[in-house]
Amino acid sequence: MSVVDYIEKVLAQTAASSPGQIEFYQATEEVLHSLRPILERDNRYDKYNILDRLVVPERTIIFKVNWVDDNGVIQTNIGYRVQFNSAIGPYKGGLRFHPSVNLGIVKFLGFEQIFKNSLTGLSIGGGKGGSNFNPKGKSENEIMSFCQAFMDELYRHIGETRDVPAGDIGVGGRELGFMFGRYKKITGKFEGVLTGKGLNWGGSLARTEATGYGSVYFAENILNKYDDTIKGKTCTVSGSGNVAIYTIQKLYEMDAIPVTCSDSKGTIYHKKGIELEALKAVKEIGRKSLTEYKKLCPDAEYIPVSKYPENGHATWSIPCECAFPSATQNELSLADAKTLVKNGCKLVNEGANMPTTPDAVAYLKAKGVLFGPAKAANAGGVATSQLEMSQNASMSKWTFAEVDAKLHKIMKSIFNTSYNTAEEYGCNGDLLAGANIAGFKKVADSMIDEGSV
Ligand code: GLU
Repeated sequence: MSVVDYIEKVLAQTAASSPGQIEFYQATEEVLHSLRPILERDNRYDKYNILDRLVVPERTIIFKVNWVDDNGVIQTNIGYRVQFNSAIGPYKGGLRFHPSVNLGIVKFLGFEQIFKNSLTGLSIGGGKGGSNFNPKGKSENEIMSFCQAFMDELYRHIGETRDVPAGDIGVGGRELGFMFGRYKKITGKFEGVLTGKGLNWGGSLARTEATGYGSVYFAENILNKYDDTIKGKTCTVSGSGNVAIYTIQKLYEMDAIPVTCSDSKGTIYHKKGIELEALKAVKEIGRKSLTEYKKLCPDAEYIPVSKYPENGHATWSIPCECAFPSATQNELSLADAKTLVKNGCKLVNEGANMPTTPDAVAYLKAKGVLFGPAKAANAGGVATSQLEMSQNASMSKWTFAEVDAKLHKIMKSIFNTSYNTAEEYGCNGDLLAGANIAGFKKVADSMIDEGSV
């Protein structure tokens, strides 16, 4: 069977066995197609049925989460943990609490995580989880009630050498604290079973900042390769969570000018540059809408979702040299990519997971826009999670500067690996292909070594 036929066969099997799981199919299609050069060079992957085995999670756990709201009413949500691949280490990946979460979303995120984690060069397998629970508008008591109920089931599937969840959209330090407390209470173990923990109870310095910082380090690596720098560049950033906030912070530290941020209701365009302290006050402390930012900074423009361009996101219609999609999947469409190119954008660097639609990625590539793919560009978060696991295991605590220096080095190494792998396999300059192939090779070779497990 030709390599193309092999890829198409596995994609057809995936479509048939995962009906309606659109995002999972999208992620699988992107990865499998990009693996063609390595499959053509090495027939062991076909011989050992690696693709067929790779697209099926090792374990999929789906459970009911009953919790009690402030009115004493029992509410029901669905919990997920997809333990996708443990060839190179314990399952590792975040938990997402958002009404859009379903099995297809968790599988797409878990699948991406396999390659991302491999690319960090660290020993971590791929997993992801979450729930369709919507934390928005819930009281602290309701959040705690949900997190505890979620852990009442999850605890039996995780452990510091087995599966180590962390945060993602809707899950930060507060939620991890409630879940960690419950895990400890049920199991009697104080162990590094979660990452992104609070600094007083086993967390690592710089974990909160790591995804955003890493994303900007990665962008700088790309620009440097083409004799350019982020310094002085006008940048657009979407999102206003952890990733976006610390992308903005690092952009300032590297003398760039971040001019936007967004949430589910609208976009802020602040021409002179986003006021970081105001953004943190509104989002990190206040957990409020960006309309509050507009109140604090009246000279900023607030563009509500109703005013967004058709098929597009307001953020990408703001002229910029570098764009950092850092909110969620498929947030940058083909129409957005066209607008970015028209406005002279030089680089798109993905802070979120799979934020750029496949047709937009193809368009940016055709137009010569530099592209930092998510698996590489946002891997700083999970890499620093592994640094947290490492500190927990050795009962040590590193300084902020030590962790940040390691993160910096890891992002450079991820860039070099992606770039050099692309060269080696004849996909010159295509970091997406390079990242996928490099991430795949380590996992696939380990699967072959480990036999039919
Ligand atoms: N949710 C993050 C990601 O998408 C971090 C996962 C982790 O730290 O385990 O990579």
